[in-house]
Order: sequence, then C-alpha cells, then structure tokens
Amino acid sequence: MSPRADQDVDDLVARARAGETRAVARLVSMVEDAAPQLREVMAALAPHAGHAHVVGITGPPGVGKSTTTSALVTELRAAGRRIGVLAVDPSSPFSGGALLGDRVRMQDHATDPGVFIRSMASRGHLGGLSWTTPQAMRVLDAAGFDTVIVETVGVGQSEVEIAALADTTLVLMAPGLGDGVQAAKAGILEIGDIYVVNKADRDGAEQVRRELRSMIALGDRPEGHWKPPIVLTVAPAGRGLDEVVAELGRHRAWLEETGELARRRIRRAREEIEAIAVAGLRAHWEGVSGHDDLDALAQAVVAGEKDPYAAADELLS
Ligand code: GDP
Repeated sequence: MSPRADQDVDDLVARARAGETRAVARLVSMVEDAAPQLREVMAALAPHAGHAHVVGITGPPGVGKSTTTSALVTELRAAGRRIGVLAVDPSSPFSGGALLGDRVRMQDHATDPGVFIRSMASRGHLGGLSWTTPQAMRVLDAAGFDTVIVETVGVGQSEVEIAALADTTLVLMAPGLGDGVQAAKAGILEIGDIYVVNKADRDGAEQVRRELRSMIALGDRPEGHWKPPIVLTVAPAGRGLDEVVAELGRHRAWLEETGELARRRIRRAREEIEAIAVAGLRAHWEGVSGHDDLDALAQAVVAGEKDPYAAADELLS
C-alpha cells in the first residue's frame, strides 16, 4: 500500500467522522467490495468504535419493519441523535443500494445529514452476514452515529443472525399474520429484547400481545435477567414509538449495569475474527498457488491415499 493510499484512507475516515455522508458511503462500499484498503480502513476506525447503540430489527415479512424503522429514526432524530441504518438482505447475492433502496421507506430522511441509510446484500463472495455487516456497522459506529439500526429485509436464518450482531434486538409482530405468534419461528421468541406489536390499529393486536406475554412468561429466565417488554405501535402514525425509544434506553442501561453489553460485544468480535480468519485461510488455499489445493487433497482422500486428518493438517500448514 502506497503512502498516498494510506493518506487517502486517513482523509476518508476523518471526513466520515466530520459527518460527511459521501465519505461514510464510500467506506461502506469498500466493505461491500472487500476493497484492498479495507485493512487500513479498519485500523483507522478501530480507536473510534464502540460508542453506538446497535439495534437489530427483525420479524416476519409485512409486519412493518421498514415503516417502523423509519418512524424510529424520526423519533430518535427528534431527540437529537444521529442515526445510521443498514437494511440487510442476507438472502440476496446482489449488492447495491438501488435494488433494495426502494424498499426502505426512508424518503422522509433522504435529505437529513444526521441520517445515513444503506441497503446491503450480504451473501456476497466473502460469505455472509458474519463478515460484511459487522464491518459496515463499525464504519457507522466510528463515524459517530449514536444509534446504528440493522434491519433485516430477507427471511430465514437472518433473524437469529441479526440478534447475534445487535446490542438490543427488537422483534416485530402484528395481527393478521396467519396463525399469529404460534406460527412465528420458535427462535424469534428467544432473541427479542423488546417485542413490538405493530399495526395496533387493527383488530387482534391485544390478542397478539397476550399470546406474546404468556409465551415470554413460559421461557425461563434467571433471576435478575431482562424481562422483555411488549410495546404496541402504529408505525405510519408514529404511535408508540416514544415508548420504543424509552425501552431501548432502559435496555441499554441494563446491558451496561450488568456487564452484558461487554459480553455480547466480545461474542460478536470473536465471530468476526473467526470469519475473517476463515476467509483468509480459504483465500490462501484457493488462491495463492494458482491451483486448488483443497481439490487435490480431496481427490487424494477419495482415492484412499490420505486420511482427512492428514489432508487437513496439510491444508493448514
Ligand atoms: P416489512 O416487510 O416488515 O418491512 O413491512 P413494511 O414496513 O413494508 O409494511 C408492510 C405494509 O404494512 C405496508 O403497506 C405498510 O404501510 C403497512 N403498515 C406498516 N405499519 C402499519 C401499521 O401500524 N398499521 C397498518 N394498518 N399498516 C401498517
């Protein structure tokens, strides 16, 4: 890396920290593209990260995640916070804001310099949420956003993965989603720090709240553990969002008091390091020698010339 490129990275980071949206966008693109300067970028960002409250938003499709995210941004902006939003589609291999951007109901915030919004596809060539999303989160965190919201756009394993990335996970439910709470994936009832019953203007919201409350009560949580609150909202009208913001603050305070914040973040960093290390290993055995070492070893194992342990040793050495 040339001294000039180094300077470029420092300059970019300084401009991002000064609140320049284009610099932030450029840094997030470098993450998405796995740019060669990413290592320098991450080194320059490292001392500035760790301040943002990372909030994950998840729930079944159509429940109102985008609408709620937008309303939450409005509410947090009114309190003077700077907000970064990553709308992540873990099921999509496509990259680029334009494709998913329309989905994010964020037009209200498009011209607000205190809000940064980006859609990301994350099943890219480097594999998954575990790799790109935490790095993009770190960009926004180090750029000085007070809250970083990570909203899942896709379905599937993503809910659980988002929960692993966030300090606080909001799980959205709504009336009229088929069989209701029972139909939701079991996992969703274990990951929520705050439950939101959106579309409270519709019949059945109270019913969903009752179901949720009894299911939360069934889960056994140790003494002194966080008991997830349930908030009713009507996202398009901004109703209930003040309560969501209050619960976010309460949860953040609980995380800090109990040491759970540090535990969650260490868990997150472990996974991130592991993902980078594994990606590095993979690149090593696929790339450097010009031929695929793994393939040659696999052939030897199939032919009975090597056992898989010996082959793995060889790959690692
Ligand atoms: P997502 O797929 O979970 O992101 O859901 P969206 O935010 O795209 O919302 C799905 C649909 O529900 C849209 O047509 C919204 O306008 C509508 N919607 C969102 N929140 C509410 C609400 O509180 N009440 C009602 N009646 N409709 C809502």
